[in-house]
Amino acid sequence: MSKGKTSGNKGFYDGDKKERDARIPVYYKCGLMNNTIQDVLRQRPGWEEARDDGEWDFNWCDVGWLRENFDHSYMEEHVRINHFRNHYELTRKNLMVKNLKRYRKSIEREEGRMEASKCDFFPCTYTLPSEYHLFVEEYKRIPGSTWIMKPVAKSQGKGIFLFRKLKDIMDWKKDGTRSEDQKDAAQVESYVAQRYIENPYLINGRKFDLRVYVLVTSYIPLKAWLYRDGFARFSNTRFSLSSIDDKYMHLTNVAVQKTAPDYDPEKGCKWQVQQLRRFLTAKHGREKIESIFKDIDNIFVRSLQSVQKIIINDKHCFELYGYDILLDENLKPWLIEVNASPSLTASSKEDYEMKCRLLEDTLNVVDMEGRLNGKEKRVGGYDLMWNDGPVYREDLNLETYGSTFFTANTHLGCMNDRENHLHKQRLQRQFQSRKKI
Ligand code: ADP
Repeated sequence: MSKGKTSGNKGFYDGDKKERDARIPVYYKCGLMNNTIQDVLRQRPGWEEARDDGEWDFNWCDVGWLRENFDHSYMEEHVRINHFRNHYELTRKNLMVKNLKRYRKSIEREEGRMEASKCDFFPCTYTLPSEYHLFVEEYKRIPGSTWIMKPVAKSQGKGIFLFRKLKDIMDWKKDGTRSEDQKDAAQVESYVAQRYIENPYLINGRKFDLRVYVLVTSYIPLKAWLYRDGFARFSNTRFSLSSIDDKYMHLTNVAVQKTAPDYDPEKGCKWQVQQLRRFLTAKHGREKIESIFKDIDNIFVRSLQSVQKIIINDKHCFELYGYDILLDENLKPWLIEVNASPSLTASSKEDYEMKCRLLEDTLNVVDMEGRLNGKEKRVGGYDLMWNDGPVYREDLNLETYGSTFFTANTHLGCMNDRENHLHKQRLQRQFQSRKKI
């Protein structure tokens, strides 16, 4: 099987992005149906859907397609695909934690404890059944605390439950003590047992987590962009630790919440991240909230660095990650998980519009049209957060602040005046000439 357009009549990509010609039409393939991504691709001027058996320049595929096809395929220089080959090193719950633990250890060795403590943003986690005994040791340190069990390879809250007693997870213990032959005969699904954040930050008595989008366009060197928009997902039921069986109280996934008997799709259970930032700033003050958002930036960068040497870097690949972050009552942000296929299905008109903006800007950064010069610190709603090192804001007055004070170029939850910005960069033309569908 061949990938990409083989007609190759134009030199499209010269490696450092200085002299890129437009390759129009861009033939795209999309493995997701009935989705915002389909609409965005269809509406993009100069882009055409590739025929079923035809060649393509751009592929928004699902991870199943990647697994089956990536290794047997040839890709021309200019071709782009929306996953890295082994994305699961960051996006599978057990592997993410394994990589973070190893990364933390290496920082402690090389830079000391203080620096390593900056990696303490993920709850204590063990893979079961393989780490059952280690888990029990930790469990016994604080008896009676709450843990959450999550299947490593599922999403949308499927298979998740909370527990306080070891007898509730006997199945995983049995497997941990079986012989290898017995294990083959009765495979038990792998889970992670993770310390449950028992003191989440509550708004109107409800728990929420944040879904934020990070786009990685290269791992070596690491180049990562942070989107200004995102949202907080609230649970439908007031939080309490007295009942650990109520998934509507403890799991904030929209897929779970929308099955609640009293779920109202119009009221929904989402806030835009701008609304959340305003709320928190009014309550706790600007300085405090800026420092919390800085801590959240630290989570993005360190988690990406933890897999930087492990992800198979490939110039054809980019990845749009959906980060799930939970705030506790002390406003400490915790990394819950990273998704390789964040839901692009919209739950309301506002959500649809946000996801279209996000996807249009993702395509603007990936830049199949060759309109960028490669030096941009901002494209639409994306701010360049890391480019082989931290990226700082341009509006900084170093004379005022002194040369040791830098502010990161991130604006999560700030105004997303992307249309103005795209206009300035002359990237807006697709919005004016949107195709009718
Ligand atoms: P999934 O991939 O199935 O969505 P997550 O790890 O994102 O699994 O967990 C689902 C939800 O459960 C989260 O959105 C969050 O509300 C809740 N949750 C998960 N882990 C924890 C934890 N350690 N402490 C508190 N709440 C958690």
